[in-house]
This record gives sequence, C-alpha cells and structure tokens, in this order.
Amino acid sequence: MEIKCVGILTSGGDAPAMNAAIRAVTRAAIYNGFEVKGIMRGYKGLISGEIIPFKTQNVSNIIKQGGTILKTARCQEFTTPEGRKIAYETMQKEGIDALVVIGGDGSLTGARVFASEYNIPIVGLPGTIDNDLYGTDTTIGYDTALNTIMEAVDKLRDTASSHERLFFVEVMGRNAGFLALNGAIATGAEAAIIPEIATEVDQLAELIQNGFRKSKNSSIVLVAESEVTGGAMGLAKRVEEEYPQYDVRVTILGHIQRGGSPTASDRIIASRMGEAAINALLEGQRNVMIGIQNDEIVYVPFSKAIRNDKPINRDLLNTVKILSI
Ligand code: ADP
Repeated sequence: MEIKCVGILTSGGDAPAMNAAIRAVTRAAIYNGFEVKGIMRGYKGLISGEIIPFKTQNVSNIIKQGGTILKTARCQEFTTPEGRKIAYETMQKEGIDALVVIGGDGSLTGARVFASEYNIPIVGLPGTIDNDLYGTDTTIGYDTALNTIMEAVDKLRDTASSHERLFFVEVMGRNAGFLALNGAIATGAEAAIIPEIATEVDQLAELIQNGFRKSKNSSIVLVAESEVTGGAMGLAKRVEEEYPQYDVRVTILGHIQRGGSPTASDRIIASRMGEAAINALLEGQRNVMIGIQNDEIVYVPFSKAIRNDKPINRDLLNTVKILSI
C-alpha cells in the first residue's frame, strides 16, 4: 500500500529531544512528499481523535525545547483489543497510513501489537532517558538526563564534603543502570549501585568492605531506582541498621531528570533518527525501531528492541572503583 500520510505520536515517559525528533520526522516526511499529522497525547489521541495536520512551521523553533509539543500520556484503553480497534478506525478516518511512534519500551510494545493486528507500517524511535532499549547505543534524552544528573551531583558534592557524609543519590533508569553507572563516572562518585548485578552481589556490603570512606571526607553513591537495588531509601535503611557509624543522607533526583533543553548530542541523534524513520518507511520497512550503533543508523525489529535485557558494560563498575580511590 502506498503511504500518503504519516502520523506522529509521543507516548509513555517523556524525554528531552522528543521535540527534535518530532521536528525531524515532520520535516523529512514533508520533504519526501508525505502529509503529516500530529497525534496528541500518545495512543490516547489516536483513540479520541485529537489530531492536528502538521506543516513545516508547526515544528519551528522546538529543537531546543524539553518535553514534547505533542504531549504524552499513558493509555490503558490501548492495551485492550477494543481500544486498538477504535485507534485503527481513527487512523482510517484521518487518512493516516503509517505511524512513527516515539517512546520507550512500553510504547514500542504497544506499537508492535497494533501493527501485527492491523498490518499498519509503524516505525519506532527510542525516546527514553533510561537508555534501556536493545539494539541502539543510545536513546533520545539519555545524554541530557546524564548531564542533568552530573550538574545535580556536582552541587551535592559541595555540601557532602562540608559535612563528611555518605550520600545516596537515586537516579532514574527503571530496571537499567546506565544513568547510575555513567553518572557515577561523570561525577567522580565513589560507587554506582545498579540492578544488573543486584541479584549476584551485595553491592552495599562490598562498598562498605572496600573501605570507601577511609581517605575521603565525602562519599557519593549513585543508585539506580529499582526494586532489586532497593533504591536509595532501601539502602539508607540498611546502612542505618547494619552500619550505624555512617551518617547517611538520601537525595532522589526524580523528575528533574526528564526536563531541560536537550544537549547537542541528543538533538543530533533525535534529528538523525527522525529522518531515518521516514527513510525506513520509504524503503518499505515496518515494525522496526531506529537505532544507532557505532554512529550508523540501524533498523532493529521491535521484538528485539523491547527484549529488556540490554547489556551494560560491567567493566565500568571497576572504572568507578579504581578512579575513586
Ligand atoms: P514507555 O513507553 O515510556 O515505556 P509505558 O510503559 O507507560 O511507557 O507505555 C506507554 C503506553 O504504551 C501505555 O500507556 C499503553 O498505552 C501502551 N502499551 C504498553 N504496553 C502495551 C501492550 N502490551 N499492549 C498495548 N499497548 C501497550
């Protein structure tokens, strides 16, 4: 089937540079002769019909804005066959023949189910600060979030060293430790506690046994939010009970990690990936996520991208340890 009109939506957790991706998809689509429609609030807008025709000027001046001009949402109804049927009917009514879905692992899972039920060409873009999608070196928003973490932890270091305290700083990542681990390297933190190895080693006990505080007047440990690590609160509770000699403080960075003007690196990958999404549709690709591996654009089948076991470079844990002696 010939594609005439491409719909774009952002779904799930928002991430910086989603706007840069929306801009790139819109402009590349129009350049190649497609019509473009912006779908508001993710799958919700596809069900309710909240859809806006997009011209090149609809995406003017958004490359530097955080958040997403299309808004995002979580949509329970789309997880049901009835909800997806309404979404499909909206697409028919609006004349949308293909979709570009920008979002994380949940959003791409939804895209995969929808595409298989209705035989619709869908291309995904990895929009998440967590960097937890398989088959791409990085995701849209990850670098900006990492920089936000770096700035926040730099500030905490000033106060931590004035008081000789142990700080647990909880960062996002869902079940992935990329933000914690690379955030730890970027800030010279004493350790990172990540979910990928949580079931294999007692990272807290190891940290204390390593005598991490001996020659220092402050210690900062980046902790990935996750049930398996216990999060920063869970670890602080353990320290209070098991190692009461330490004065512990907890900082949960929370949603500030999602905001802010995107870094150059995020703007560039979002722009390249957005253009690549349209090239993929032109080439007849469907059910693929655009990824970047070794600076080259790659197509990753949805089934692979959402596998949920993106490997982390464990050598970097050692790097953190060696560089913080
Ligand atoms: P993210 O994309 O950031 O991982 P979510 O996991 O919240 O965010 O997913 C976003 C939306 O994707 C959900 O609210 C839902 O509408 C849709 N979705 C997620 N999983 C499925 C699924 N298994 N089937 C259909 N839709 C899904």
